[in-house]
Amino acid sequence: MDLGISGKRALVCAASKGLGKACAMHLAREGAEVTIAARTLESLEAAAADIRQDSGAKVIIAVGDVATEEGRQAALAACPQPDILVANCGGPPPGDFRQFSRDDWIKAFDANMMSSIELIKATVDGMIARKFGRIINITSAAVKNPIPMLALSNGIRAGLTGFVAGLSRETVRHNVTINNLLPGPFDTDRLRGGFLARTRSGAQSMEEAVAKAAAANPAGRFGDPDEFGATCAFLCSQYAGYITGQNLVIDGGDYRGML
Ligand code: NAP
Repeated sequence: MDLGISGKRALVCAASKGLGKACAMHLAREGAEVTIAARTLESLEAAAADIRQDSGAKVIIAVGDVATEEGRQAALAACPQPDILVANCGGPPPGDFRQFSRDDWIKAFDANMMSSIELIKATVDGMIARKFGRIINITSAAVKNPIPMLALSNGIRAGLTGFVAGLSRETVRHNVTINNLLPGPFDTDRLRGGFLARTRSGAQSMEEAVAKAAAANPAGRFGDPDEFGATCAFLCSQYAGYITGQNLVIDGGDYRGML
């Protein structure tokens, strides 16, 4: 299926690894010109080489922290007028909310709410003028299925979700859609890092903990980032112009709610 986005410019943030990279890979396979942003030059260069080799697409890199204005400006300088924006950033740390200070909350706010809002602010009017735009925020299944240890993620991402719920109804008549993708457990460095931290005490090995958690998911496994990237590419396609303001949980059915 040709998704009809060949030649479109895509800015994918936090995309040298994991879910962001998988989104960039699938957009590049569809012929989009992709700019990937992250903080570390080496892993960005490696990701760009992988994507180029796989897709033959033009891939531009932008080094910077998208939680900061400076980092976002670097990303936007590399891709000033994106037709597709995948807003993503590293997730906040887990922990008991009693341990989090105001600064911790502000850091999560900057990374997981304001970074998306500022990137949308900088790009949405150009998309409206060009009559095509696809904006995806990578949030978390925790928005619908909150996890007590992820207080920062539960709270801050809910704020972004509310913002998108309003704006996405204003932009859709201009063929500019805004949707959120809500990953459950996907097999990425972040997921494995969490298991590593939790199994340091040695009560069970990391492999045992990973296998147990994967088996507990209705699908009997973790998600493959490739599946996430393909879903993102579809939502960025010309066929997805009537899908906006949605929160799509991709978690193997772990969220049990009917709505
Ligand atoms: P990952 O595999 O650890 O990859 C994170 C990517 O983001 C890397 O390329 C990293 O590169 C980049 N990055 C991190 N902070 C950044 C920043 N401030 N500015 C620019 N780039 C940044 O993580 P992931 O699993 O793909 O997670 C992506 C998002 O999905 C996170 O918000 C995470 O909380 C959320 N999520 C993931 C899962 C899951 O199971 N994987 C589940 C729910 C939610 P640098 O470090 O070089 O910047």
